[in-house]
Amino acid sequence: MNQYVSVARDGDVAVITVDNPPVNALSFHMREPLDAALKDLRDDASVAAVVLACAGRTFVAGADITEFGGPRQNPTLLDLIATLESYAKPTVAAVHGTTLGGGLELALGCHYRVADPKTLLGLPEVKLGLLPGAGGTQRLPRLIGPEKALEAIVTGRFMPASEALADGLVDAIAEDDLVKTAIAFAREKAASGGPHVLVRDRDEKLAAARADLDAFDARIKEATKKARGLDAPLRCAQSVRNALTMPFEEGYAQELAYFLELLPSDQSKAQRHLFFAEREAAKVEGITRDVKPREVKRAGVIGAGTMGGGISMALVNGGIPVTILEMSREALNNGLARISSTYDISVKRGSMSEEDKAKRMARLSGTTDYADLANCDLIIEAVFEEMGVKEQVFKKLDEIAKPGAILASNTSYLDVDKIASFTSRPADVLGMHFFSPANVMKLLEIVRGEKTAPDVLATALAVAKRAKKVPVVVGVCHGFVGNRMLASRSAELESLLLEGATPSEVDKAFTDFGWPMGPFAMGDLAGLDIGWRNRKSLGKTAAIGDALCEEGRFGQKTGKGFYLYEDGRTPKPDPWVENLIVEKAKEKGISRRAISADEITERTLYPMINEGAKILEEKIAARASDIDIVWVNGYGFPIGKGGPMHWADTAGLARIVERLEYWHGKTGEDTFKPAPLLKKLASEGGSFAGLKG
Ligand code: NAD
Repeated sequence: MNQYVSVARDGDVAVITVDNPPVNALSFHMREPLDAALKDLRDDASVAAVVLACAGRTFVAGADITEFGGPRQNPTLLDLIATLESYAKPTVAAVHGTTLGGGLELALGCHYRVADPKTLLGLPEVKLGLLPGAGGTQRLPRLIGPEKALEAIVTGRFMPASEALADGLVDAIAEDDLVKTAIAFAREKAASGGPHVLVRDRDEKLAAARADLDAFDARIKEATKKARGLDAPLRCAQSVRNALTMPFEEGYAQELAYFLELLPSDQSKAQRHLFFAEREAAKVEGITRDVKPREVKRAGVIGAGTMGGGISMALVNGGIPVTILEMSREALNNGLARISSTYDISVKRGSMSEEDKAKRMARLSGTTDYADLANCDLIIEAVFEEMGVKEQVFKKLDEIAKPGAILASNTSYLDVDKIASFTSRPADVLGMHFFSPANVMKLLEIVRGEKTAPDVLATALAVAKRAKKVPVVVGVCHGFVGNRMLASRSAELESLLLEGATPSEVDKAFTDFGWPMGPFAMGDLAGLDIGWRNRKSLGKTAAIGDALCEEGRFGQKTGKGFYLYEDGRTPKPDPWVENLIVEKAKEKGISRRAISADEITERTLYPMINEGAKILEEKIAARASDIDIVWVNGYGFPIGKGGPMHWADTAGLARIVERLEYWHGKTGEDTFKPAPLLKKLASEGGSFAGLKG
């Protein structure tokens, strides 16, 4: 008995209760007494069965990741499981809350599992660039079958208790008190006399897949097709496959070997960095525990265009009823129809039921009358990106919104302080910058204005959580964190083409780095006319981009852009474009040369990192890891590289400064001039991670 592990008796059944708040993680200080208690009870002849339960809000929710990479301290989780598996009398895990990772592996060491009906079970190690290293890939397939286990482990998905019961992962669901049910279950099993078969010894669900490995390999191919250069999903799949081809002990040892191989890898470090970064991003200066978010029972969205529609969907998906306001009935109806057909796609794909769609649509209403927004607690504006239009809308909102209503703008670039100044209540105004498509993309940049009140920020964070977004609080500047850095990434793209690269060479350098798409394919997808119009309004030009648009080549939507789209979707290099580039280079007197992938990276990614350093200097972002969260969740930065700032630390800041200086000398472009903060860190041997937030 100690602070973390206690034992109680209910007749001949012993109940071990683990109490290691907040989530009963498998820290060394609880493993040691748990192992001792398990051994005592195993050897105690007066005990007929043992129930393993947890106090607090959850069963063991996983390893203590702060111990990862540190010295090994015995007993390990593997030792605990070995102790459980040395039992002849029945052991029952009583699981509730989030039974995840090492927690589920511990429960799989027991003979039986009884679950609270709300339990979620899963092996999410893949999300940290790892695989379950304590038998998860060997025991789960034996319980639920290798096909289901493969899918669950490769995606890291959480399985609800009802599914777990149907699949055999749990043996019973507790309708009433969990521990009492588990005690009764254990007593019954003890009385039955067994046999109590260990999970590791159950092979019957493996037989079919063992007999047809080709079919299983096809499943692996399907399950890992989105792995995109990440090692962990492949290792997870291979390890599940090993359960079919190897005896248990061998598969178990191999799993541990994979785990130890992945643990020190750059990819896993990057993914663990992102895991912590997401939690850090929720800590916002000025939002202390006593700052209470305002209640949001109903929201309004202004504009039913691309963003207004997506934002409305994100809110209703999170259970918040929305009234959308448009300028005309026609625009409103079109917007609502687009939302309905977007949901239809999910229904067709099978990811949403008709009832779910109906429920969501029922939370949506439309209007052309501002008075209908008078009872909204939050109103998000998503109208055209013009200060004049924003001014009109915010003046109107100031007239009609109830006191205490939060007024947010989805502006991509405009000055949120200026927008706030159009109202008599700037403390209630902030930016809520969603990304397109807003019903899908995880990122939400929450733009804190000069006068934004702390409880207004706290409310935006709470709404983000309900809408299942990943929020990052940023300051006011042109383009905030994401779009501002995107501009610096894009600055050299035309020059790279003129100096000798082709669009597909540039895009290939990006996809080889791990981006889902290169910038030219991306431009074609988004529509080249947007940038063209923007340039015209700013009096700027781009030799190649402008020439394409003048030819009516706006990208995928016109079947042609930087590439040709014969089937409407697949980019094909177009000799016409390559010829255009050569001509434009000639006009400018540039003699073209071969351009390496390294050069492409240096001239696109390094300026981004440089801009990130400036963003930190100006305190637009509170910490480097916030910038990583923006880029991974809003722009597809490869998660295996952890975001631009983490990647920069890994690559070495001194090298980045040296190359920036080289390119600055060669081109004279400001984007390459190293930011003072970057230079300082590089000269001190420091890192972005080492900066105090
Ligand atoms: P959009 O043109 O698709 O939609 C704008 C909608 O607003 C139109 O339906 C229009 O009828 C309506 N509207 C215009 N003025 C209005 C008014 N006074 N009252 C009511 N409705 C009005 O534009 P969008 O792409 O959805 O962009 C909207 C905002 O979101 C802009 O500020 C933009 O910068 C920002 N944004 C866009 C993206 C993107 O990728 N499209 C991403 C993030 C942010």
